[in-house]
Amino acid sequence: MPPSDGGRTGSRATLGLGGNVGDPRRAMEEALKTLDADPSIEVEAVSRLYRTPPWGPVAQDWFLNCCAVVRTTIEPLQLLEKCKDIEQALKRQRIVRWGPRTIDIDILTFDNLSLENERLTIPHPRMHDRGFVLIPLSEIAGDVQVRGRTVSDWSQDCDKEGIEVASESGDWWRSS
Ligand code: AMP
Repeated sequence: MPPSDGGRTGSRATLGLGGNVGDPRRAMEEALKTLDADPSIEVEAVSRLYRTPPWGPVAQDWFLNCCAVVRTTIEPLQLLEKCKDIEQALKRQRIVRWGPRTIDIDILTFDNLSLENERLTIPHPRMHDRGFVLIPLSEIAGDVQVRGRTVSDWSQDCDKEGIEVASESGDWWRSS
């Protein structure tokens, strides 16, 4: 549901989603559908799915990742709460930091806001050097500014090794 007049008002936020336990495609599909069903959130665009190598020191399965652009009438912390509720509902298994997880939802950007407190840092502090964020995000929000450069520019320079497209279009989450 659009939050207001066709989704043109409110804030434009970008989200990063990923998971590598169970059926991450299904978990991300559920997460996006739940967000879109919220009266205060409209999912405006979703990237293709990407299969990406595990990041960090923990040996684990490959991830599926995607990014989304949402239009919302709520504040960043309220959006974070909704994302955390969805993660919990999808039985996120968070055993070790950087380790396997059913689904992770990060707020990447929120309008042009810069925010840093104990619960939320925006832009997401690690997004500008992670291919699994920048490659899908540049498909749908290449114009977004992060640390003085566009997402498109950051994505030109990032490490793309091993990252593979895993869906034909950004409609994968609407099916079934
Ligand atoms: P992680 O499990 O590594 O995704 O970290 C989750 C925690 O990071 C959450 O409980 C948030 O309070 C915090 N956090 C800080 N900045 C962000 C952000 N931009 N998006 C999502 N979570 C964030």
